[in-house]
Amino acid sequence: MKTIDDLDVAGRRVLVRADFNVPLEESGDGTRRITDDGRIRAALPTIVALRSRGARVILAAHLGRPKGEAKPELSLAPVAQRLAELIGVPVALAGDVTGPSAQAIVAGMEDGDVVLLENVRYDKREDSKDDAQRAELAAELASLADLFVSDGFGVVHRKQASVSDVAALLPHAAGRLVLAEVQVFQKVLTDPDRPYAVVLGGSKVSDKLGVITNLLQSVDRLLIGGGMCFTFLAALGKNVGSSLLEADQIDTVKGLIADAETRGVDLVLPVDVVVSTAFSADAEHKVVTVDDIEDGWMGLDIGPNSRLLFAEALADCKTVVWNGPMGVFEMAPYAEGTRAVAEAITRVDGLTVVGGGDSAAAVRLLGIPENGFSHISTGGGASLEFLEGRTLPGIAALED
Ligand code: ADP
Ligand code: MG
Repeated sequence: MKTIDDLDVAGRRVLVRADFNVPLEESGDGTRRITDDGRIRAALPTIVALRSRGARVILAAHLGRPKGEAKPELSLAPVAQRLAELIGVPVALAGDVTGPSAQAIVAGMEDGDVVLLENVRYDKREDSKDDAQRAELAAELASLADLFVSDGFGVVHRKQASVSDVAALLPHAAGRLVLAEVQVFQKVLTDPDRPYAVVLGGSKVSDKLGVITNLLQSVDRLLIGGGMCFTFLAALGKNVGSSLLEADQIDTVKGLIADAETRGVDLVLPVDVVVSTAFSADAEHKVVTVDDIEDGWMGLDIGPNSRLLFAEALADCKTVVWNGPMGVFEMAPYAEGTRAVAEAITRVDGLTVVGGGDSAAAVRLLGIPENGFSHISTGGGASLEFLEGRTLPGIAALED
């Protein structure tokens, strides 16, 4: 995979696909405010490097799901403004994706300028299932530029015009962010230092079956918490009360448990849980062992002995990948399991990777220093597909 250092960018128009899909909050007067500019900041190394080398930087990105229509509330205007503040130069926003406005703005660019095309999903061809439709938009995007740089890790698992199709039409390279993400996941997948543990949580086991199946081939330890642990506990014959349970996955999970055993993978499940009478911070709650979950109670976090057990299982690891919170961390009474695991990971002396949007959000919400982890991925879906061992269209398109 080529990097931006392999491209001769001076004086050239470089189309950069970034991930600017930031959360927005609308205030009473209709103005929209970015509540977390992390994704914009993550794109800065590439933008700054290209500018400093005299490139003309044309940014393409999406925001939300406008479904092929120009929806003013999903305009990238707040992003252009925030980006301009961060890089300290104006960022012109085109009024369209590849139309007259985009063409005029690009034609007027000088070396070092940065422009942003309007929300690429305003154009329905962007994520069309029809190859010809996507190819058509990709050709229009390519006609605006001389080179293509892929730097939106959050979208590399998407087969979309501005992500994968356009790469085939221009000399291309991975941006700094995509390169860093790919290097970390490739290291974890192909050559992890051992012991190697993966901690999985979150809500649904069905979302992560592919990841579990693939990782059982390489991990030494697999720790399961969050809502998904109850399907594992049920597969082991335990009563889980009204906890999150995917009954249709019990047989699959039994198979995974057997597979872990055959492969000598240490499967670590909670020994106790915090149970509550309702999905609410105010509801009555208590700690019980996993053998004592009564009907009418739901498990919303791993318990104190499980926190110790999980921390112990991570202590001597040289590689840890974490995806999915251990409990309903958004509610204070059920956040301690996630906090304990996150803190245990920050104490690990080795490569530590956080994948998953909600896990990264938990790290921030709980105030755990982000520099305590080697890498916090910017791509929830993309990182999961990577861990499933799948080929990601936006990465495959960069390899040649
Ligand atoms: P990620 O985005 O990190 O991959 P997921 O999207 O799979 O994580 O899951 C995150 C959600 O899982 C959180 O909103 C959290 O509240 C929820 N969750 C965690 N534990 C439980 C539980 N025991 N019961 C219900 N929901 C849970
Ligand atoms: Mg999530």
